[in-house]
Amino acid sequence: MDAAPAAACRAVKTTCPYCGVGCGVLATPAPDGSVDIAGDTTHPANFGRLCSKGSALGETVSFEDRLLYPEVYGKRTTWGVALDLVARAFSETVAEFGPDSVALYVSGQLLTEDYYAANKLMKGYVGTANIDTNSRLCMASSVAGHRRAFGTDTVPGTYEDLEAADLLVAVGSNMAWCHPVVFQRIAAAKAARPSMKIVVVDPRETATTVAADLHLKLKPDTDVALFAGLLAHLEAARAGNAAYVGDFTEGADAALAAARPWTVASVAEATGLVEADIAAFYAMVAGTDRTVTLYSQGVNQSASGTDKVNAIINTHLYTGRIGREGTGPFSITGQPNAMGGREVGGLANMLACHMEIENPDHRDIVQGFWASPAMVDKPGLKAVDLFEAIHSGRIKALWVMATNPADSLPDAGRVEEALRKVPFLVVSDVVANTDTLRHAHVKLPAAAWGEKDGTVTNSERRISRQRAFLPLPGEAMADWKIIAEVAARMGWADAFAWDGPAAVFDEYARLSGTANDDTRDFDISGLAGLSAVAYGAMAPVQWPVPASGAPRTRFFANGGFYTPSRRGRFVAVEQKAAAETPRRYPFRLNTGRVRDQWHTMTRTGRSQRLSSHIGEPFVEIHPADAAAHGIEPASLVRVMSPRGRILVRALVTDRVAEGTLFVPMHWTDQTSANARVDRLVDPVVDAVSGQPALKSSFARVEPFAAAFYGYAVSTRPIRTERLAYWAAARLAAGHALEFADADPCDPRALAERLLGTKDLVGALDRTAGTARFAALVDGELVGAAFFAPRPVAVSRAYVAGLLGERLPSSAAILAGRPGADQPDPGPIICSCFKVGANQIAAAAVDGAGTVAAIGDVLQAGTNCGSCRNEIARILSSMSVEADEPERQLAPAG
Ligand code: SF4
Repeated sequence: MDAAPAAACRAVKTTCPYCGVGCGVLATPAPDGSVDIAGDTTHPANFGRLCSKGSALGETVSFEDRLLYPEVYGKRTTWGVALDLVARAFSETVAEFGPDSVALYVSGQLLTEDYYAANKLMKGYVGTANIDTNSRLCMASSVAGHRRAFGTDTVPGTYEDLEAADLLVAVGSNMAWCHPVVFQRIAAAKAARPSMKIVVVDPRETATTVAADLHLKLKPDTDVALFAGLLAHLEAARAGNAAYVGDFTEGADAALAAARPWTVASVAEATGLVEADIAAFYAMVAGTDRTVTLYSQGVNQSASGTDKVNAIINTHLYTGRIGREGTGPFSITGQPNAMGGREVGGLANMLACHMEIENPDHRDIVQGFWASPAMVDKPGLKAVDLFEAIHSGRIKALWVMATNPADSLPDAGRVEEALRKVPFLVVSDVVANTDTLRHAHVKLPAAAWGEKDGTVTNSERRISRQRAFLPLPGEAMADWKIIAEVAARMGWADAFAWDGPAAVFDEYARLSGTANDDTRDFDISGLAGLSAVAYGAMAPVQWPVPASGAPRTRFFANGGFYTPSRRGRFVAVEQKAAAETPRRYPFRLNTGRVRDQWHTMTRTGRSQRLSSHIGEPFVEIHPADAAAHGIEPASLVRVMSPRGRILVRALVTDRVAEGTLFVPMHWTDQTSANARVDRLVDPVVDAVSGQPALKSSFARVEPFAAAFYGYAVSTRPIRTERLAYWAAARLAAGHALEFADADPCDPRALAERLLGTKDLVGALDRTAGTARFAALVDGELVGAAFFAPRPVAVSRAYVAGLLGERLPSSAAILAGRPGADQPDPGPIICSCFKVGANQIAAAAVDGAGTVAAIGDVLQAGTNCGSCRNEIARILSSMSVEADEPERQLAPAG
């Protein structure tokens, strides 16, 4: 079903709901329910740019698979019944077992107003800090590192600093895929000013490392050694800023004493890097005043994440490279409103407006402002502990909002057991089917992007409006409103009597300025008192915006930290000894993202354009490891840890180091048979931040003995049966399924079941062990299925392109590849213009030797630009015929 027809056809300025870049979007709903998407040229985050995910937003707003009505115990009900039940269950649980027996697990997808309402309900009224956010999984170590160094959770700089830097050091960040528009801004700055240098610190080769002047491919989790060594080098090279250190900081002596034992040689030994590269990196940093160190999940998602953050910040404090144009440590956030959640107290150890639970003055300010009857006085359970507390019986009622912990938390199988076990589970979501929602006792339909209205904060502290441009479908309701309705039923109607998001924002802005006087960084009191109309029209604005005093763009150029002494704090950090590798699990398993999918694919998985880039789960494994374990390219591999096992496609590549694996985190039970990688991940957390170490579990691999492999397309959803392996993806005209099984099958019978018809043409080739079938209705291709004893060698792009088309004969489809007169495009690289790797390679052979020339010839890379680095990589290797890794995922014929 398409989205409901919109009333008007004017462009609405809103914000992309995916990553923490926070790009401005112009959304123009059409009368037929479709939505045209363009970048907002006036938004300071992106100036009109959008990446592939942002560009495809219009494909994700349909009502398909939406949760449209409240449900209680599997039956549709009214809001009144559902809300009464939630309020009664929470109230009775609190009355019987105390406030710490209930919990909320929320999300960086929530708007700030939603977050504010949830936080106020739990920390000020229920009287528990058992509310944590999935931002714990991506940003908590940055928060903890900032608080240790700055006394508060401040990102000191702006995106302009990334462009103005002479040296950009990216640590643990594949920003070309995960924060594409920020990457594009940096790439454009470097193109305009080639003297700008980029260093990437990452155990993997990625689309980002393609752009690097120097790639430091270090061993996992050795960043502390690298940056402690850098601090020691800066001191030895007399590259410090003694005045800054003396006037504005404290703790330098201890940090330097901890760092001095690190030499280039010992850093090389710890990190596995060659000494010349380390020395070159250290010399670049020592000699470049305008240095920005940008970091992301590779730093944060680690058992030593907070120490990594402080090791980086130490080097900036020591050189005074902070708060000035083109300088600073810069943590880039994963989710669209991870920053808003941090600001509003979405983490279990924080209060609203960057106030601290442990600080009695802060508690008094918040309690007084809220007239709170039950103010918390101790931190609540952080994400991993929260779900473990269900197992121990401490948490008896849980409300999950806008997130999917059954897939995204470490040891996800045990988390799912907790969801099954908790006596009362409420889930608010926009979609009807997730691995979390299937366990909910109460399902509450929430407003989705395009329907909800509020604010988000991006990685550079910029608050932007997310505006509604579509009517609410079914009975969906805004999250803040759902929370307020429950609060009212729990007896606190007056404290939650907002008449709209503007009123929530106004309360939040007023709290930020209460008893502040620059004792706290977060102050948006200058935005208090906006009318609903002014709030509706609010332009993107960077905080702080104090009611009195000048707004500022950057922090800490002249001290003014928020520690008790107002000095920035060095932290003496130690490189943790590497954990001993278990004999049975010799690989280090890294998890992460691919370019065109977002989190657990509940939205991006609906887009055929985005699914055309990488359409199935995979494991990157080094060629030497693959050979040692008998794993062929594009075959299936079991990846196992002591906690579980998954089955994914082998992507054999030297982008990963020997002894390491990489598996994306997007695939769930809704989109694949058995590919939830977080089931394998140890629930190890950083001791300071509580952030899980999602990138360094131990694992082993073994080849999967497939009796057959298959690939099917259909205009209708494809039945998946009990196949050991399947992965579903969207096509322009329907659906695709990769599949395999350990037991032999009758190909024709299986094709009939998968495609839902017995009316098939095609045949078995018993000698080759292959089979190809097609279903045509009045000459139009409505389905096809291909079987082989090895990974099926058909051109996916070709077969998918024929679906829904009238064919002159079945021969065109059963060949599984274009005729000699029609080139096979190969795996899709540019999803905007559907340009494949083979086309790019062929254009290069014909003389288009640069990314720009490929754009001129094929248009590839000329829209959102997200694929430009992959094009560059193809041009530099020109090896797609034999070993281009993406080709292994879609083994064309
Ligand atoms: Fe959205 Fe892409 Fe911008 Fe991130 S970079 S906010 S995903 S358009």
